[in-house]
Amino acid sequence: MSKTRNVVKHLKIEVALKERKCHANSKHTIKAGEKHLAEYDDSGARQNVCMQCAPKVLDTAQKHIRDLRGAIEK
Ligand SMILES: [Zn+2]
Repeated sequence: MSKTRNVVKHLKIEVALKERKCHANSKHTIKAGEKHLAEYDDSGARQNVCMQCAPKVLDTAQKHIRDLRGAIEK
């Protein structure tokens, strides 16, 4: 059975093993043990976004998907 491809599967919520820098705001740090949004690119490299910035990143993604949906329904 074919499954619909998830185009946003490169976005995950992970728990930092070590201290990580927030990619959305260089002044933010993600401490070890804290949850954060992880975005993997095709090479497997990871960009980390702290929980403070994650909602904004997801809002932008959600808006983009909403726009796409709007364009389909036109
Ligand atoms: Zn941040």
